[in-house]
Amino acid sequence: MDIAKTIEEVRKMRYSTPGKIALVPTMGALHEGHLSLVEEGYKHADHVIVYIFVNPTQFAPHEDFDAYPRSIDDDLAKLKKVGVKHIFLPNIDEIYPADGIPCEVDVANLNGILEGEFRPHFFGGVCRVLTKMFNIVQPHFAVMGQKDYQQLQIVTAMVEDMCMPMRVIAAPTKREDDGLAMSSRNVYLNDKERRQSTGIFKALQQAKHMIEVGGETDPEVVESAMNDIISTHHFDSIDYATIRHPRTLQPIDCIEPKLSGGVVGLIAAHMGKTRLIDNMIFGSNQ
Ligand code: AMP
Repeated sequence: MDIAKTIEEVRKMRYSTPGKIALVPTMGALHEGHLSLVEEGYKHADHVIVYIFVNPTQFAPHEDFDAYPRSIDDDLAKLKKVGVKHIFLPNIDEIYPADGIPCEVDVANLNGILEGEFRPHFFGGVCRVLTKMFNIVQPHFAVMGQKDYQQLQIVTAMVEDMCMPMRVIAAPTKREDDGLAMSSRNVYLNDKERRQSTGIFKALQQAKHMIEVGGETDPEVVESAMNDIISTHHFDSIDYATIRHPRTLQPIDCIEPKLSGGVVGLIAAHMGKTRLIDNMIFGSNQ
């Protein structure tokens, strides 16, 4: 495995590697969800570069930057097993030099809602680090998970609107056998919390059933059912459980069965100290 630690090293790695390049951005603590992004990358590109970087600018001071799970040796072993040969492992100073003058990257229409309402610093940090990483590595593709649906929409919009010469590829959400979306933060859950956490998936499944089988068109009726299911699973609080337009992420008046791309159900809820997010597309025939 070739591990680049500096911008100069990763550029050298990238330009001495012929063919198409897919970049898989991660913060480490890798699970099968991350590895599925690698697999998706190889479907589109000749080589996959994975970066592991716990990005400080997307954490607020009260959030879990210091406690965020880090398991670099384990991560490298997992990547080796799935055939990844190119890794970028920068330290913080390489990406955020102390004497740098910070820039803001703001996808204004999508940044302030949903996740942006509860984590106002988050998408600014994500867009800033991804702009840096995309410019550093200059890949043909970036593979990102649908698990972080709003992030996927924001980064796709950023790449398109800024005419970045690359394409964002969406990969489906990998789930545990009981439906819980895989996440590096799931390790924070104790056994009881872990069992109750399936409430989010059950709420999304119920919404899917109501829309696709029952033909429900009123978003408020579906949202109310999602909230009820989450509440019965003893979540401490619900940030949102909502039905939105799949691209604009704005509320919709009516779930039209023929709406191109369907609608998206998005949930964020707190189980003990762990904040979980998940989503599902409903009514799409794509
Ligand atoms: P993270 O390391 O959590 O910042 O995630 C890195 C990338 O992995 C992002 O594009 C996530 O959307 C994606 N990802 C995280 N969890 C999953 C999952 N369960 N299935 C598919 N992709 C995921």
